[in-house]
Amino acid sequence: MKKVVLAALVLSIASCTEAEKPEPTQEKEAIGSSVIVHEEYTGVEPTKPEETEFYEPKVPVVTPSVNGSVPSDAIVLFDGSSLKGWIRSKDSTAANWHLNGDGSMTVKDKTGNIQTKQHFGDVQLHIEWSSPAAVERDGQNRANSGVYLNGMYEVQVLDNNDNPTYVNGQVGSIYKQHTPLAMASVPSGEWNAYDIIYRSPEFNEAGEKIKSGTMTVMHNGILIQDHVEIKGNTPYTGWPKNPAHGKGPLMLQDHQDNSRVSYRNIWVREL
Ligand code: MG
Repeated sequence: MKKVVLAALVLSIASCTEAEKPEPTQEKEAIGSSVIVHEEYTGVEPTKPEETEFYEPKVPVVTPSVNGSVPSDAIVLFDGSSLKGWIRSKDSTAANWHLNGDGSMTVKDKTGNIQTKQHFGDVQLHIEWSSPAAVERDGQNRANSGVYLNGMYEVQVLDNNDNPTYVNGQVGSIYKQHTPLAMASVPSGEWNAYDIIYRSPEFNEAGEKIKSGTMTVMHNGILIQDHVEIKGNTPYTGWPKNPAHGKGPLMLQDHQDNSRVSYRNIWVREL
């Protein structure tokens, strides 16, 4: 009995396949419209290994970051020696956050955000931050700061240790857009590192966004944002907006509630 059913099934599939088999041209069109074809791997396939090996263009040599050093092709934004590369965001006067003697700076409460004088587009950013060991307050009011790429897209800085809050606003979130994949903070008072790859959105001449920006974030070496789409700016209230822009500064947030967040060792590589 089983054999009969199986035979009928095979016959049925065979006849169906035969009847629905598209003409070669139709099949090609279907593939062309739905399958990604890599031009460089089409045509006659090479038969020698050397035919698929390239020597130009040469790859630039970069001395990497080792034990806190700066990569050889990076632009240093803050090395602890001064705030001369930074201004207050609200009036462009000299940044006046606390410059500590240990290579770090600390938010000067209620003086406002600060930002780099230099503007950037696509970057790889390295920045280290710490929240105070002596914790104060809860939720969004415990050591809240933020790293704004292009001056407008916030990667949240927050002391989330035993301090739950809304997950799309917790440490490592793209604020109110993307919840981080993991919470990878070190204990309060120790130094965290963010390594961020930022790609700018693109706008047409009418000022409309035609391609979203993206962000990838590593928090202490842990992937927490995986090439996520930036849906607009990152306001506290309301939807993300998409004003057209070019390059912009790196901005750091004064949350104006005595966050006492500190930063150090900030550099970018332009991409
Ligand atoms: Mg913040």
